[in-house]
Amino acid sequence: MTSVAHPRDRYDRPVGSLRLSVTDRCNMRCRYCMPEESYVWLPRASLLSFEELERLVRLFAISGVEKVRLTGGEPLLRHDLPNLVSRLRRVPGIRDLALTTNGILLDRWAEPLRNAGLDRLTISLDTLRPERLREFARTDRHPDVLRGIAAARHAGFTTIKVNAVIIRDYNLDELGDLLAFGRSEGVEVRFIEYMDVGGATRWSMDQVVSKQELLELIGRTHGPTTLLAGDPRAPAERFTLVDGTRFGIVASTTAPFCGQCDRSRLTADGTWFLCLYAEAGVDLRESLRRGASDAEICDQIRQTWEGRTDRGAEARLGQSERGALYPVEALRADPRREMHTRGG
Ligand code: SAM
Ligand code: SF4
Ligand code: SF4
Repeated sequence: MTSVAHPRDRYDRPVGSLRLSVTDRCNMRCRYCMPEESYVWLPRASLLSFEELERLVRLFAISGVEKVRLTGGEPLLRHDLPNLVSRLRRVPGIRDLALTTNGILLDRWAEPLRNAGLDRLTISLDTLRPERLREFARTDRHPDVLRGIAAARHAGFTTIKVNAVIIRDYNLDELGDLLAFGRSEGVEVRFIEYMDVGGATRWSMDQVVSKQELLELIGRTHGPTTLLAGDPRAPAERFTLVDGTRFGIVASTTAPFCGQCDRSRLTADGTWFLCLYAEAGVDLRESLRRGASDAEICDQIRQTWEGRTDRGAEARLGQSERGALYPVEALRADPRREMHTRGG
């Protein structure tokens, strides 16, 4: 089968962008994502093979997906990832292939990923202070992350973004240092509001630093900021400082962008979630493994998407007593509620 009319959801949003979580495992324990001592992992046998992932991406592309982002957990923990990248690179209709990583293993993998056809890289780095990362994310591999960013540049990636989740009692004093780092390394830093997603069991509103406050603080130290025109579907708003430094802000908590959202997520075991906050997903692994035809799976994608009404972050805005999304027991009962399983 070659093409079908692309579905729109109930708010006329297209299915444009798919995040593929390739593993639920991680070699970090960021406090805003994996703060607990132990986790319930997806059974190994349930993880989709590269063949299964490639087939699903092909069917999603037929249904309208143009952008794929590999994520996790930590995607670079998945064995032989460049092989998956080169397979997805060949899928007709996929015009943008990106990866989000914590960077620990990037020094080893940047070049093979580039050679396999990866277009863009986002590296998560919240702090420039190794001792903070040790405390906050339980890793002493800060130098490896910096090496990974340098390796990405040397490998020829031109669009490198660095994501920094800003949390009031953690790294709010590093805005200037992170902007200077972005300028000197030739990467664009994006400040991300702390979200009350599954996994963030220590979340509280007083730790969130809003876009408005970020802009005020940056304006005070760096002078006026100018908003740059951009793709209205992109989550980040981009700004420039008077010295030309560009940076982004993702205001997912205080100014969510659900109205334009074309993103959905596939867990490593093939459960398709239509929203970061969705309670349940659709089991595409079952369809794959019972031998459903391409046309049947495309139909399943279409029907599911056409029924989509999700506006998770907006719905959270309306809550008066806002705390963590799930208690730990609810996350243990269904690990697909975790951000590290669902894919950020
Ligand atoms: N492990 C990879 C990484 O950290 O880049 C990929 C997966 S991680 C779940 C993807 C992104 O989600 C990271 O940039 C991370 O900072 C972000 N993230 C996780 N929990 C978050 C939270 N509670 N609020 C905001 N961003 C969060
Ligand atoms: Fe941190 Fe990413 Fe691992 Fe979550 S999945 S603990 S954000 S490195
Ligand atoms: Fe999209 Fe859901 Fe995030 Fe809103 S909360 S932007 S609908 S994924």
